Amino acid sequence: MPPRAGSSRLATLAGHHPLAVGALGTLLTLIVLSISAFTLWRDRQTAIEHAHGMSRNVAAVLAGNISRTIESADQSLLMLIAALDKPAIRSLDPELRHELLFGTTQSARYVTGMGVTDDKGRLIDGCCSSTHQWDFSDRDYFTVHRDSPGAGLYVSKTYRARSRGGVEAIAMSRRINRPDGAFAGTALVAIDLEYFSQLLGKLDIGAHGVASIVRTDGTLVARTPAMLDYSFKASPTFPRMLDQDSGFYAAPSAIDGTLRLYTFQRVPGTPFIAVIAPAMDDALAAWKKLSWMVGLSSLLVGSAFCGGVWLLAFALRGRVIAEQHLRELTQTDPLTGLKNRRALDAALENEWDRLQRSGSCLSVLFVDADDFKRYNDEHGHAQGDVALQHLADCIAMHVRRRGDLAARYGGEEFVVVLPDTDESGAMKVAEDIRAEAENSRLRDGDKDLPPVTVSIGCTTARRSNSTSLEALTKAADDALYRAKRSGRNCIVWTAVESATRP
Ligand code: GH3
Ligand code: MG
Ligand code: MG
Repeated sequence: MPPRAGSSRLATLAGHHPLAVGALGTLLTLIVLSISAFTLWRDRQTAIEHAHGMSRNVAAVLAGNISRTIESADQSLLMLIAALDKPAIRSLDPELRHELLFGTTQSARYVTGMGVTDDKGRLIDGCCSSTHQWDFSDRDYFTVHRDSPGAGLYVSKTYRARSRGGVEAIAMSRRINRPDGAFAGTALVAIDLEYFSQLLGKLDIGAHGVASIVRTDGTLVARTPAMLDYSFKASPTFPRMLDQDSGFYAAPSAIDGTLRLYTFQRVPGTPFIAVIAPAMDDALAAWKKLSWMVGLSSLLVGSAFCGGVWLLAFALRGRVIAEQHLRELTQTDPLTGLKNRRALDAALENEWDRLQRSGSCLSVLFVDADDFKRYNDEHGHAQGDVALQHLADCIAMHVRRRGDLAARYGGEEFVVVLPDTDESGAMKVAEDIRAEAENSRLRDGDKDLPPVTVSIGCTTARRSNSTSLEALTKAADDALYRAKRSGRNCIVWTAVESATRP
């Protein structure tokens, strides 16, 4: 079956440019690998965006929970203050009043303490330790309300409770005014930080994630996994949380160095910031697995393809070189290295056709060694061969122009084809060959041999005078015959016999 055009073109390309074919294969592989890498990179971004979306939802749920808790506590405070304002309640028996004011709120899940102080910060009544005369005048919520009548609901800094075994807590507080607006004391609700820790504990933040509630002054209200006494103030990323209501960024943790994806959400109307920070490794775990598989298989397939292309390119190149070598052999005369009779015939046909198309000229030289039979007889056949090789070199030396061709016609005869060469050009080449053969030194190893002279028959065909290729070669042959007749070692030019027109 004949080879298809596409595959033979590829074979030719690979034969001439194996590096180009290999490079093309490598380029294709690199393009495919780049596309894989780009897709994986996009998948990574998607995984991060997904983690961010999840964190944003979790942070919103957490912020909502905290918000509701604080609203609920504030409602209790407002009700307490309103009740205290009623003369009927004020005039009640203290025990009954205590039961009425603090009985229900005591049962609220998140409330761990509730009370009322006078204008000196002394606890007047409370749900947890009504009998004790606690002094809260040093608490921030007391000083804030005393000094700022318009403070409204104030969420305190974290503090260690004086009762309840000194647990960490925060207080929600409001100012109590006298009828004339003067400071009468504070009403407060205390919440153990444990409550916030429990809220955080219910969140899904991954194996190495962190969830925390941070106060705007940088203090840590609660964190999971638990950690005590850490201030965010020193963290380089904390200012971002103060500048915006919500946000997202990736940063290594200042505590354990783990790279995390931080999503923060300000709890409206409070100094709290809910922070959800899954670890980057957790967020990308599934993506990493996939990218290993995809990356590795792409690399393997890409390398195999690339290697295959290079192997194919070199194999094709070897084949083309072998074919070229074979073609050369079939066209080369083994003794002299010049073109052989077969190549000469093809070239003559070719140049003849071109002459008909171009209208230029074509010269042919018939070169024949003089008295070569005698030379053989005198010096031996082997030396005769050396002399023929030397003659071939003399001819090749002066037939160098692109398109020129020198061939061994047979025996001690050579033919030179000179396309686009006129009479004077052909005579010059002929003379150069003749002089070279006569004057150059002919050696066989260390031994000098006498020179072999040549006779040259020369002719030139033009489209106007060219009748046939045979007429051209015959003219050259005639010229050679005349050169021999003229005493050898000379050149004779003969015109091509014109066609006899009817
Ligand atoms: P002329 O000057 O008229 O051409 O005389 P010539 O002796 O060269 O011509 P002729 O045709 O009588 O003899 C040609 C000789 O060339 C005969 C043959 O021995 C010799 N010859 C042909 N081919 C080879 C070859 O390959 N090697 C050697 N050594 N001699 C060859
Ligand atoms: Mg001869
Ligand atoms: Mg001869």
